[in-house]
Amino acid sequence: MSAKIGILAIQGDVIENVSSLVASIADLNQDATVHVVKTPEEISEMDGLVIPGGESTTIGQMSLVNGALKEVKQKVESGMPVLGICAGMVLLANNASDKVIGETKQPLFDFLDIKLERNSFGRQKQSFEADISMDSIGISNYPGIFIRAPAISSAGDVEVLAKFNEKIVAIKKGNIIGTSFHPELTDDLAVHKYFVNLVKESKN
Ligand code: GLN
Repeated sequence: MSAKIGILAIQGDVIENVSSLVASIADLNQDATVHVVKTPEEISEMDGLVIPGGESTTIGQMSLVNGALKEVKQKVESGMPVLGICAGMVLLANNASDKVIGETKQPLFDFLDIKLERNSFGRQKQSFEADISMDSIGISNYPGIFIRAPAISSAGDVEVLAKFNEKIVAIKKGNIIGTSFHPELTDDLAVHKYFVNLVKESKN
């Protein structure tokens, strides 16, 4: 059965994720479609969701106001796979603070018992690329692009997929995946392909 994969289109890297997902689905020859979603009604139709990188305060606040936050929460709690990228990973957490300004008290989706540090590697000017390996999900030497990236400072009951400079930069718990870095900004489709397969498996 065809799977519907959505990208939460409140703010951030929406189009880039559309391109990566469309290319991944074509390469894998999977039966899936890609949708730009914003409202609770649109989200309710999805079998998987990407929460893109961008500005987590904006995505969280707007999702709270339009009801998307509640719908995403319900769907993920009932098993829908979700990929949170950078700001999207911040939103997966139940606790986030900023390296410079401390506690932000921003709305969060609250899926994972993890402590998130925003801008953990510095500000925009300190953006960088690094090779990342996530061996437990079969991805190695992946080009990680870090832009005002968060890191996880304490991970409760989650699988750590990758660390960089001693900091946790990718995690997984069941169908929930988070990356500090931006897979949609590279030509390497490994992370998006992994997510497409996860959505397909969870639907079967
Ligand atoms: N630092 C941003 C935030 O916390 C995330 C940056 C990004 O998604 N590239 O929202």
